[in-house]
Amino acid sequence: MEKYKLKRRATQMVRDGYPVLLKEDFVKEPIESEGTIVELLDDNKKFVARAYLAKQNKGDGWILTMNENEKIDQTFFERLFNQALAERANLKLNDQTNAYRFFNGEGDGLGGLTIDVYADYYIFSWYSAGIYKHQQTILKAFLAVVSDVKGVYEKIRYQTKTKPETNHVYGEEAPEPLLIKENGITFATYLNDGLMTGIFLDQRNVRRSILEQYSMDKTVLNTFSYTGAFSVAAAMGGASHTTSVDLANRSLEKTKEQFKVNGLDPELQTIRVMDVFDYFRYAIRKQLKFDTVVVDPPSFARSKKRTFSVSKDYTALLEDIIDITNEDGVIIASTNAANLSTEKFEQFIETAFDHKGIAYEILEKHTLPEDFKINPHYPQSDYLKVYVIQKGY
Ligand code: SAH
Repeated sequence: MEKYKLKRRATQMVRDGYPVLLKEDFVKEPIESEGTIVELLDDNKKFVARAYLAKQNKGDGWILTMNENEKIDQTFFERLFNQALAERANLKLNDQTNAYRFFNGEGDGLGGLTIDVYADYYIFSWYSAGIYKHQQTILKAFLAVVSDVKGVYEKIRYQTKTKPETNHVYGEEAPEPLLIKENGITFATYLNDGLMTGIFLDQRNVRRSILEQYSMDKTVLNTFSYTGAFSVAAAMGGASHTTSVDLANRSLEKTKEQFKVNGLDPELQTIRVMDVFDYFRYAIRKQLKFDTVVVDPPSFARSKKRTFSVSKDYTALLEDIIDITNEDGVIIASTNAANLSTEKFEQFIETAFDHKGIAYEILEKHTLPEDFKINPHYPQSDYLKVYVIQKGY
């Protein structure tokens, strides 16, 4: 095995539990080799850790083990999967929810790979060519540990010309749509249609909160609605009416389908394919106001008319939202921008309400749910921020 000396500071960080390696951490940079397992040594050539090399958005390699006696083989991956399985036991036993994250990268001890379960079908997301080099061993380990696996799909989330971004790799193919359950709500999902499936599993607790607390007898507006998952949660929670707004043409049919699979008539709801910023002007012209407004934009979006970026435009977006929210109404403001700190996000909220001269109260703060396990030494991975804000006077 190739051995590399780490610089002192990097040695300390790794020994403290930091899971990511950067090129600069090495005394002599390893010759690029995606997927190579290397042994890391300190100044005195004493063992520090084993890692694999891979270029990813987060760094140039991931720590695998600090136990000198642990080999990186199928048994190693089986240990990680057994641990992940034990930690998801309560979700696995819950008959109201059968879609969740089974394995969350560095949070579960292996950066570069996430695995989601959708009603006994599993989706592996590979984040680098380096981790994908170990695909066969990892899949074998997974199948040795997890029972009741109906089928496996994979998503390739790194640049490559040699593989399609989505692929069926094991077992049966899932029906299309595959109906999954979350807190008793049904969602239609598509496991082999691009990188996205129709639902973002990380918003489970937010959908639950909307279902249980912010819908009954309320008018609900869902902006950037995608397949309308928040709208369906609201309708199931007793909303008097939901309005879903998304720019993408596909969102209309997909949203209708989500209502239908829950026995709800989509014709009784409003679904608009349009730019949310145009919708705000329309709503003001028509004097429309809502009791609950959900806003969950992409971190960055370019449409024909404008570009939107969370870091530059979230305050203005919130100001528009405040205008069309009833007094005492609730705004559910979300962002998945990893590079936006909680402090910045809170500032955006404060600035927006200040500009409008309106008081507000933060009722709830959500981050990633338990199954999206975070490595305590790498909190940067906790990208989700969702605030439930009550609009005052
Ligand atoms: N809130 C959704 C996920 C949103 S994904 C959920 O939890 O399911 C982001 C969505 O924003 C995409 O569906 C995209 O089509 C839409 N979008 C991007 N820019 C938009 C714009 N200017 N107006 C309306 N929708 C937009």
